[in-house]
Amino acid sequence: MENATVPLLTPDQFLDYLPENPVKESFARAWIYMTNNYTKFQIATWGSLIVHELIYFAACMPGIIFQFIPFMRRFKIQSNRPETFEGQWKCFKLLMFSHFCIQLPLMAGTYVFTEFFNIPYGWEEMPPWFVYNIALRVFGCAVIEDTWHYFLHSALHDKRIYKHIHKVHHHFQSPFGMTAEYAHPAETLILGMGFFWGILLLANHVVLMWAWVMIRLFETIDVHSGYEIPYLNVFHLVPFYGGARYHDFHHYNFTGNYSSTFTWWDKIFGTDRQFKEYYAKLEGKKEKKQ
Ligand SMILES: [Zn+2]
Ligand SMILES: [Zn+2]
Repeated sequence: MENATVPLLTPDQFLDYLPENPVKESFARAWIYMTNNYTKFQIATWGSLIVHELIYFAACMPGIIFQFIPFMRRFKIQSNRPETFEGQWKCFKLLMFSHFCIQLPLMAGTYVFTEFFNIPYGWEEMPPWFVYNIALRVFGCAVIEDTWHYFLHSALHDKRIYKHIHKVHHHFQSPFGMTAEYAHPAETLILGMGFFWGILLLANHVVLMWAWVMIRLFETIDVHSGYEIPYLNVFHLVPFYGGARYHDFHHYNFTGNYSSTFTWWDKIFGTDRQFKEYYAKLEGKKEKKQ
């Protein structure tokens, strides 16, 4: 009898069916230039710093502009608490300290880490684009980080230690994008570890580190932005994504909604109860008015 099983597509065959990456050529040229002209240490340290700073402030930019556009006020979650110049300046100063005195040494440490685990830098070892590799690995990193964040963030809210560390991040009851990394150095280290666990388990190339940094920054700045703009945010296509309203409530209420990205841990442990009740009440009020 003939074997009737249909051979499954290998990942590489699957990629043949997807369109060519339109920026592949220019990306390849830039990457090869970088690896030919800079050492691995320079790439891991200064490259990561540049990626981090560019993405951080690019992601903050819409929120910085929105505060000057009266039309955008309807999308501000805590509309009675607008951004102030003093608040943003205070935040910027602490960010500069945190980025250059705490995070930069950590970035230098990633060089040692990539060498220890033989994580490649070259164009030849670059993983293919699209779903099955980079995107899935980044998603895996996000799931791991979210889990770490949920439990450690809840622990930082413990009455005995809250005032020593996490109180700094809660200085802004109505957050704006830049407040995403406004935190005590100890918190930067403790919650920042969640970023590295995924890399430890899933990194197959330095590019994954940067892809994950980019997504994590866009995500954390989105949830701290203070603005919930319907239909335009692609993150809301990801199932169980919390979003700005979700984390804004954590800053407004100080308790509950401890996750960074997804909603499942808060659902499982019932720590989203106050959030759900608050919005159910708001909806009720709206219906009564109509
Ligand atoms: Zn908190
Ligand atoms: Zn926050």
